[in-house]
Amino acid sequence: MLINLSKYLSSDDMLFIFEGKFIIDDEEFLEKTHLNKAILFNGEFFKVEDSILLTGIVKYSYEETCARCLTEFENTSEVKFEAVVGKNLEKDDESDEIKLAIVDGCVNLDETIKQMIYLSMPMKAICSKDCKGICPNCGVNLNIEKCKCENNITDPRFDKLKNLLKD
Ligand SMILES: [Zn+2]
Ligand SMILES: [Zn+2]
Repeated sequence: MLINLSKYLSSDDMLFIFEGKFIIDDEEFLEKTHLNKAILFNGEFFKVEDSILLTGIVKYSYEETCARCLTEFENTSEVKFEAVVGKNLEKDDESDEIKLAIVDGCVNLDETIKQMIYLSMPMKAICSKDCKGICPNCGVNLNIEKCKCENNITDPRFDKLKNLLKD
């Protein structure tokens, strides 16, 4: 994921907008994350004094297992990040700012994007907000079939009634 900034660097333009599809070429990463290797990257580079501020948005999709019904589905997510891009960046271990070096007029976003995806992947996801899940009693996927178990009565009024009966 190299972005060539040569033209932008030698121009008077303050802003450079980059949008493109990237392929993540890292078998191990793809296997670990179940990521769809094609991701969308949208970056805004902005000149500030002697460095450049990058605001990037990464959109990605991956194979996910629904936390409610355990069905596999493709989930999409996005993550926004900021980085400082420059030729002579000072090392500062104290700050958690992302710093990216310009080498031969290009900036390499591979590691940053992978890290951002990894950190932003949701812990839990559901296939749809209407997912009915599986019956805790008989294990049937309630999106596909109905069962006759009592546990499926999810009307909150019944819950209240149940609690009353408990006391
Ligand atoms: Zn589901
Ligand atoms: Zn059931």
